Amino acid sequence: MSARRILIAGNWKMNGLSADATALAGGLAEKLKGAGAVNFEMLVCPPAVLIPVVAKAIAGSTMQLGGQDCHMNAKGAHTGDTAAAMLKDAGCGYVIVGHSERRTDHAETDAIVNAKAAAAHANGLIAVICIGETEAQRDAGKTLDVNGSQIAGSVPEGSTAANTVIAYEPVWAIGTGRTPTSAEVQDVHAFIRAELAKKIGAGEAAKTRILYGGSMNPKNAKELLALADVDGGLIGGASLKVDDFWAVATSA
Ligand code: PEP
Repeated sequence: MSARRILIAGNWKMNGLSADATALAGGLAEKLKGAGAVNFEMLVCPPAVLIPVVAKAIAGSTMQLGGQDCHMNAKGAHTGDTAAAMLKDAGCGYVIVGHSERRTDHAETDAIVNAKAAAAHANGLIAVICIGETEAQRDAGKTLDVNGSQIAGSVPEGSTAANTVIAYEPVWAIGTGRTPTSAEVQDVHAFIRAELAKKIGAGEAAKTRILYGGSMNPKNAKELLALADVDGGLIGGASLKVDDFWAVATSA
């Protein structure tokens, strides 16, 4: 059995107001409390403005809290951005960096993602570094090339199993209801772990959690989470309903 603890992470994206956040996070926290000892860790990543609301709703539970992005710099003239230290101060233990929506909408390159992950590490946050190929890249047979080069470029020096989680999210599977086959997911995850070993050493890579993301839901979670190199999920749509997200977690 793997020593890697399953991480079930919810990316709420730009969804919800205070009342929704309180109900969703509070409902999940209650389920976690009621379940007692579980074999997985749960994380919710609400929009930045809702982090204090969620921190309050999950108080006293083991639910983890994360941001959806952070700036690479510590502070200063960066209107609209959030520093890693601010996330930490607000109660976060994690931050997602390099989500494909940020890579696309905000032109984030591997170098930018790398600097953001380094800022997260410097402030005691675990960076959830997202990588994944587009449909065109997949169709061109470039899936491994793309993911290999994103690992090489996006994972900063000083990354360890303790401060880093990788999320493999095929861009074409996000929000589409489509997923790769289980065999494809396992192959890419094993490849990612091997590429990670080149960067951080085989010992750390073996301990690092690699999540699958892209249309994971209560129906397909069990099969995906059972794969040897899949150590959890990064979940968008299905993380917005208490019962769906809990069903994904408990299928681990
Ligand atoms: C995501 O955006 O990280 C994601 C995996 O979304 P969904 O689960 O909705 O495909």
